[in-house]
Amino acid sequence: MIDVTLESVSKRFARTGDTAAVDDVDISIAAGEFFTLLGPSGCGKTTTLRMVAGFYFPTSGRIRFGTEDVTRRPPNKRDTGMVFQNYALFPHMSVAQNVAYGLKIRRVGRAESRRRVEEALGQVHLAGYGERRIDQLSGGQQQRVALARALVIRPRTLLLDEPLSNLDAKLREETRTEIRRIQKESGNTAIYVTHDQAEAMAMSDRIAVMESGRVQQIGAPQEIYHRPANAFVARFIGRSNVLSLPVTAVTDETVTVGLPDGAETAVAAPVGHGLRAGEAALVSVRPEHIGLTSTTEPGALPGRITELEFTGMATNLVVDVAGEPVQVAAIDVPAGIAVGDQIGLRLNRERMWVVHP
Ligand code: ADP
Ligand code: MG
Repeated sequence: MIDVTLESVSKRFARTGDTAAVDDVDISIAAGEFFTLLGPSGCGKTTTLRMVAGFYFPTSGRIRFGTEDVTRRPPNKRDTGMVFQNYALFPHMSVAQNVAYGLKIRRVGRAESRRRVEEALGQVHLAGYGERRIDQLSGGQQQRVALARALVIRPRTLLLDEPLSNLDAKLREETRTEIRRIQKESGNTAIYVTHDQAEAMAMSDRIAVMESGRVQQIGAPQEIYHRPANAFVARFIGRSNVLSLPVTAVTDETVTVGLPDGAETAVAAPVGHGLRAGEAALVSVRPEHIGLTSTTEPGALPGRITELEFTGMATNLVVDVAGEPVQVAAIDVPAGIAVGDQIGLRLNRERMWVVHP
């Protein structure tokens, strides 16, 4: 277990010319933390992880494990356990042979190796599966073999690149809980890569949201969800309405904005928001923080339903408010409402939040 630091790390590939795949990334991961790199495909997650593993060297910047500078150290000298998206198991070898692979390379003796393989298989709840062939296992079991193979070398850091993406939805949810349990029990510092925001929020102590090679925000799941730093994060994490509203007054921590019905409301804003009266502020409000009411209720924003979709737990609506489409997720909807109906929206003002463009 060790802390991991990335200092101004950039990576440029020769073929992509001037655009950096990873652009000036600063991240400090605490020992024992479950830290996730989250972002859309192509944003630089895998490249970042591969630099921590040593498969790529940064074009500039430093990577440290504790106080050791590992920036240019080869992968086999870093004590990292890596789990890949496609598992990268050897299909012709047994489970035990796959798990033992890293120990063989490290010239660990046979008795010690056997003991550690059993221990690692126990950790992932596959005790007794050592003699099976890889192709006799389900996808979920193969995933756990890959995890055991990473754990068996007793790594200082566990690096996982979209390890659940080949599993079906239900198994993915079960396995994410399992990975989290194993990580906490083994005490490893974990760096986890995913494009799935629900997975990231369920598993992580902290998340770095990335886009175009840059870190957009680092924080605990609640922080990122309730206080997104900018419009990209607000829209990428869950769904969000980002409304452009006129600013009428400001303090250090609040921005008063005008609503489409002419009312005004003070909204929490990040320190250093830099907005002034007369400008437009971007205000994020989650679909589940908007309630449905009648158009005649005082303070309700009047609108017209343009889309309505029942998903079981919630009903998702799009409501046109003065030409702006507003997404609403309602658990309880009035019986018989339909597309075309006039409806009132009640924004939960406590949950509104000013974001940077
Ligand atoms: P992610 O894992 O977030 O989907 P990647 O780190 O794989 O993103 O890729 C980030 C960017 O770097 C992409 O534009 C990708 O095309 C580019 N890239 C990744 N690996 C290489 C490589 N080996 N050579 C050239 N370009 C690469
Ligand atoms: Mg990737």
